[in-house]
Amino acid sequence: MGGIDKGLQLFRGQRLVDHVYARLAPQVGGIIISANQNHDAYKSFGVRVVSDAIGNFAGPLAGLHAGMSVSRRPYVATVPCDSPFLPEDLVARLMARLNESGAAIAVATTRGRPEPVFCLVQRSVLEHLTNFLKSGGRKVYDWYASLAVVEVNFDDQADAFSNINTREQLADLETGALAQAGTPAATATLGHPSPAPGNPVASAIPDDAPARTDVPDAVARTDLPDALARTNLRDALARVVSCMDDYDPNALKVERARAVIHSLLKPIVTTERVAVRAALGRVLGEDVISTVDVPAHDNSAMDGYALRHADLEAAEETVLRVAGSAFAGKQYEGKLGKGECVRIMTGAVMPHGADTVVIQEIVKLEGDKVRIPAGQKQGQNRRLAGEDLRVGKPVLKAGQAVGPAELGLIASLGLAEVTLRRRLRVAFFSTGDELASVGSQLKPGEVYDSNRYTLYGMLARLNCELIDMGVVRDDPASLEQALKTAASDADAIITSGGVSVGEADFIRELLGKLGDVVFWKIAMKPGRPMAFGRIVHAGKEAHFFGLPGNPVAVMVTFYQFVRDALLSLSGRTDDFSLPLLQVPCTAAIKKAPGRTEFQRGRLTCDDQGRWSVRPTGAQGSGVLRSMSEANCFIVLEHERASVNPGEPVQVQLFEGLV
Ligand code: AMP
Ligand code: MG
Repeated sequence: MGGIDKGLQLFRGQRLVDHVYARLAPQVGGIIISANQNHDAYKSFGVRVVSDAIGNFAGPLAGLHAGMSVSRRPYVATVPCDSPFLPEDLVARLMARLNESGAAIAVATTRGRPEPVFCLVQRSVLEHLTNFLKSGGRKVYDWYASLAVVEVNFDDQADAFSNINTREQLADLETGALAQAGTPAATATLGHPSPAPGNPVASAIPDDAPARTDVPDAVARTDLPDALARTNLRDALARVVSCMDDYDPNALKVERARAVIHSLLKPIVTTERVAVRAALGRVLGEDVISTVDVPAHDNSAMDGYALRHADLEAAEETVLRVAGSAFAGKQYEGKLGKGECVRIMTGAVMPHGADTVVIQEIVKLEGDKVRIPAGQKQGQNRRLAGEDLRVGKPVLKAGQAVGPAELGLIASLGLAEVTLRRRLRVAFFSTGDELASVGSQLKPGEVYDSNRYTLYGMLARLNCELIDMGVVRDDPASLEQALKTAASDADAIITSGGVSVGEADFIRELLGKLGDVVFWKIAMKPGRPMAFGRIVHAGKEAHFFGLPGNPVAVMVTFYQFVRDALLSLSGRTDDFSLPLLQVPCTAAIKKAPGRTEFQRGRLTCDDQGRWSVRPTGAQGSGVLRSMSEANCFIVLEHERASVNPGEPVQVQLFEGLV
């Protein structure tokens, strides 16, 4: 249905926009329809119709921007014009959560995933949106990423968010979702494409009633989220590829494949609050701002004596009277007088008047007097209030991973909860008619499905939410069903097997039908064939990684491409690249220039403390034992030829990896 004006298509005897209007009008104070063509048709409601203020861009943000620019209310809701079953309590529920959370945007989610064009926005972020668009930003997800977003779960009405993109989807909705959405049954008719395809159109309700502040406006827009997403992927891929003079899907360099993948990822933006300990290994959803000065008071860094530096003789020792003691948690209440000092322990609050601490090891104690040697520096051994953290300053940044140090830092602020990105949902399955499940008897020609276990292990270490979909047979119907289910449930889909030359044909066709997927032969060993792209189903989409079937190739491609992609998708923006270290290789390795090789190696230390690496035995891509015996990859660069014994090579450690 791409190119036609969807809002004007007939569905059950009415235009799609009529359905949307009927559901939306009771929920809001006014409706503004953002539209770039067919204004007259949309004006039938007697509403305001606004065109985009920015040219050459028909995305949902342009519509939201246009609507927010003319609205006078503090909140603006947005919905697409092709969602005839939208929830009748959509705006009320978004509003309740927005107010409760203080976030800038409330977005509906179904099955754990956002419905990004069903949201409620504080109009005060209009300037932020304008700047984002002016700076070239286009994607809803990218815009959300820089704001506080709160998710509102609509699993109870997941089908209400269905939109209509194709006749096939219409048929699905007729039989399934419609009954649930409670829309009266009627014969569905799809209108003919409008004679002027191109920009989407919308219409609006006049906003001339006195502006109330307790109800939002709504912007309805006839965008096609699925179609747009797909066009964007294809366009984006074409753009990325056009910038690469050496893009060749049949001999793609490892670095190129990484760059293409990276440029097409859409990270998670929605957030949730969790208890501090549960944050371990996850990604911060917003900056953590210090609520306190840490330390809260000036305190002593050593055990010793706190004194006034001005009381000390410059060139000779000084005798001071010990006026009392200060312990951690029990401070000296008095004010230090001239010629006095206070016995002080590490961490104790500095007594009033004292500015310097002299360590106990260098003083002489005589009754209630201490002799302080000359040469003490003013302010020494004193920790200043706010030295670690200052009130109002960011301590941790959104996009950072939470490790043990971060847990401690958060706790040091007294915070019991923290805002995180929600976890990435990853669906994975193995393909192959020859695969047998563990626990069953092997028939002739079968092998046990080990890849799903390796994948499970690697994904679990990345803290993803896992959907294990088992083994899927090499037949188009089973694969199609599995991919559709995965796309509607997960953010990313990982498969093993079925992307090598012999098998690619029907899978290629299937993946072409369900989304946009490119097939690569990467200039690497092991792991040459790989597929990457996006699968779209029922208004949802998921990133797709089709890994090779050979067990070592699965691990190598996962670590070289998928790991980083999943971390980016999870919202990580800190540097999570894996270090490459140089060590001498003790054995010869044969290699021809023209591909990157990932040999399995064993890094060891001799009794002189010198590290070196040697390849583990058999390096076949089916020999999983080589991964288990190894503790690192030996990374032999694209241009590199054979390695002579003693030559330095790059290694990538498994520790922290597998
Ligand atoms: P394919 O990429 O599907 O041609 O598979 C390549 C090789 O990997 C074949 O020898 C398969 O039997 C093997 N293989 C594929 N999937 C798995 C799996 N899940 N577990 C173990 N071996 C597999
Ligand atoms: Mg296979």
